[in-house]
Amino acid sequence: MIPVRGFEGKCVAVFGLARSGLTAARALIAGGAQVALWDERPAAREAAAAEGFPIVDLSTADWSRFAALMLSPGVPLTHPEPHWTVVKAKAAGVEVLGDIELFARTVNAAPAHKRPKVVVITGTNGKSTTTALIGHVCKQAGQDARVGGNIGIGVLDLDDMHGGAVYVLEVSSYQLDLTSSLKPDVAVLLNISPDHLDRHGGMEGYVAAKRRVLLNQGKGDTAVIGVDDPWCQQICTETKAANRRTIVPISSGRAIGRGVYALQGVLYDGTAERVVEVADLLRARSLPGPHNWQNAAAAYAACRALGIPPTDVADGLLSFPGLVHRMEKVGVIGGVTFINDSKATNADAARQAMSSYPRFYWIAGGVPKAGGIDSLSDLFPRIAKAYLIGQAADSFAKTLGPAPHEIAGDLATAVAHAFHDAKARGGEQVVLLSPACASFDQFPDFEARGDAFRQAVQDLTAPAATSSKGASA
Ligand code: ADP
Repeated sequence: MIPVRGFEGKCVAVFGLARSGLTAARALIAGGAQVALWDERPAAREAAAAEGFPIVDLSTADWSRFAALMLSPGVPLTHPEPHWTVVKAKAAGVEVLGDIELFARTVNAAPAHKRPKVVVITGTNGKSTTTALIGHVCKQAGQDARVGGNIGIGVLDLDDMHGGAVYVLEVSSYQLDLTSSLKPDVAVLLNISPDHLDRHGGMEGYVAAKRRVLLNQGKGDTAVIGVDDPWCQQICTETKAANRRTIVPISSGRAIGRGVYALQGVLYDGTAERVVEVADLLRARSLPGPHNWQNAAAAYAACRALGIPPTDVADGLLSFPGLVHRMEKVGVIGGVTFINDSKATNADAARQAMSSYPRFYWIAGGVPKAGGIDSLSDLFPRIAKAYLIGQAADSFAKTLGPAPHEIAGDLATAVAHAFHDAKARGGEQVVLLSPACASFDQFPDFEARGDAFRQAVQDLTAPAATSSKGASA
């Protein structure tokens, strides 16, 4: 755990007692602060009380005693409307922040010899892959890398810092909105496409949140910025004009001056006078497709900025084992391959997986995002048949129009029907779970959805349950 600095002897209100809230409370106490915890769910309060945390009803508390409000990233800061704790904090002049900000302040307070390197990765898609990839390359190259943030372990739960450590952190737009002091040695902004617009009040707010990753960088720092979409392209141009940090543009599909880019799967480093071929990404088994070449280009640029030699970075890219729930092959039964891409929670992410197969049986649906699957219509001819689940099923059915589809309702039914149809067709077939939706209507999170898919695939080969128990009852 990383004891939080900067709040010694002060009291911090913590709202939202899921994992990040409880970890922050522990880390604040370890750093010498007091805390006052609250959640609207009685069960969450009881669990926190059982751990010995002071529970304080923030709706009736005297806010003048708090130095800050530590907010869970899931709690609305501004849109659709500010949460009542935010309103109370603002009225009392209490600053509102998140766990990444607590980490940033702790790093900034560390003496030079104890200050670790910090790499922060954000973007609409590819954050987790790129974060894990950078962590993998760093570890392979012998660095003491700690990987966390919005992926896996919450930032304050990582091991405490020392001068030789490298923190590789995935940070979401929600977390960035709660962060003001972060000054990454390397900031990676992969891409931007419309997502989470309800929480940011529209595209402008979302882009502004993503930009915050570059906020405090200066001389000696590096910004790695994807230039394959208009929003990041503009940010890259403006950042170049703005100050003295090093900027490395990256692209997954075109040669760019003084940048790192992939052309048909071959990664090039064009940051120096002479362009150098770095790696043949077609040999990297866990980085298939142009979207992963963007992730690889970003990881290469970030790891070079950390001083890792090019050949070590290339080795790391090729040996990356990949992440679960991202185009993960979970089974092959009778020529039918099952791909778990549960992490595709929006249309843009689903596009990557759908583009990777010429024909597939598609399981999609859940809680739809703005625009639904309208933007995927060019890929509909690849759909052998779609099996629609969750809240989005009816609206996706309308969008699919004449493309073959059925309303399957739930995931287990979708898997069974898709398998039945794919097997009947014969030959090599693909069943793809790439929902283009959030999971919350039917699952706690995308991991649970992916696990349920894996289980449903395993159940297809399980021996039929015997009925002896029922018969003897
Ligand atoms: P994030 O953490 O940003 O949600 P992940 O690395 O978990 O991203 O990947 C999520 C989904 O996005 C996967 O379905 C994957 O196919 C797709 N994806 C991965 N990298 C990219 C990228 N650079 N651009 C677009 N889509 C991507």
